Amino acid sequence: MEDEYRFETLTIHAGQPPDPATGAVMTPIYQTSTYVQTDVGVHKGYEYSRTGNPTRTALETCLAALEGADFGLAFASGMAAIDTLLRLVSPGQHVLVGDDVYGGTYRLFDRVLRDYGLSFSTVDMADLEAVSRALRPETRLVWLETPTNPLLKVADIAAVSELAHDHGAQVAVDNTFASPFLQQPLALGADFVVHSTTKYLGGHSDVVGGAILTDDGDACQRLKFLQNAVGAVPGPMDCWLVLRGLKTLALRMERHCANARRIAAFLADHPAVERVHYPGLPADPGHALAARQMRDFGGMVSFVAKGGEAVARRVVTGTRLFALAESLGGVESLIEHPASMTHASVADSALAVDPGLIRLSVGVEHADDLIADLARALGRGAPE
Ligand SMILES: *Cc1c(COP(=O)(O)O)cnc(C)c1O
Repeated sequence: MEDEYRFETLTIHAGQPPDPATGAVMTPIYQTSTYVQTDVGVHKGYEYSRTGNPTRTALETCLAALEGADFGLAFASGMAAIDTLLRLVSPGQHVLVGDDVYGGTYRLFDRVLRDYGLSFSTVDMADLEAVSRALRPETRLVWLETPTNPLLKVADIAAVSELAHDHGAQVAVDNTFASPFLQQPLALGADFVVHSTTKYLGGHSDVVGGAILTDDGDACQRLKFLQNAVGAVPGPMDCWLVLRGLKTLALRMERHCANARRIAAFLADHPAVERVHYPGLPADPGHALAARQMRDFGGMVSFVAKGGEAVARRVVTGTRLFALAESLGGVESLIEHPASMTHASVADSALAVDPGLIRLSVGVEHADDLIADLARALGRGAPE
């Protein structure tokens, strides 16, 4: 299926043939914990739903197809996927981590996994010389996000992968911000892709989930063992919600990108705005690389309003359409204050963010309505 069809077609059909038992066009929600055996050990491929469930299989097959991967595994959350992947790293080994990764990822590495003998250090993944210097003989894994959160910095997946492989390390890319519609890290040389399917893949802010995709058959066997042995699996209803969201992924991403591009241009021209972070802006430091590596520039925009934190807090509470909330990637637009919300857990670390920063998850509403909403809130933010 992967070789025959294009992305838009795969979102709707990969892993989802009509149900063989009934002809149902939609993949059924196999809400069952166990499966009958006709003799001891004789069954139709499923024994127990932590180990496997047909709705989850459909999701895993579809996600693998969308990332161009041989194997896909679904998890109960993005963090569960990340935690499971990190179990490939042994005590004494080192993980090199991008310096503005998702706050929850940094927290898991720094405050949970460090206690189990793994070591972590951070580096600016956009600076290849710094990456090269930071790789150690004991580096097992390089962990990167691009574009990053919340500064939308762009890293060269192919170049970082080459450096890592030269040092005997593997590369994992958290592709949550881009989605496979915009960028496919495995094709660029990465070894693993992880997703929080909670975001663009689900797309409707109604489910929490995660996934790992890879072409590495040995690693996949171990990860599949861990998925079952550790047990952080998604239920069939949650898998079905992500499958439903995936069907419109390409359509939604096109609108997210178009709206974000207009909003970034509006903000860049606004007198109350100090700076805008969006790789789609020609002046953005990541623009050329993003244009090469991504199909479009994504739906996330961040900016600093003149006046610092006090103004930022007034702006994020002053919008009507943009809802003040954590998370991202849903059809509805969200606004948030990273320093006190998504990035509060890293406030005292190397990952601390500018307290004046505002992050937008631009939804698929009409761009004119979104721009009017931001214009009103920025007017309100201005000092009297
Ligand atoms: C949300 C998010 C995660 C964590 O995923 P959950 O589904 O919330 O557990 C990891 N990485 C990135 C980039 C995210 O945005």
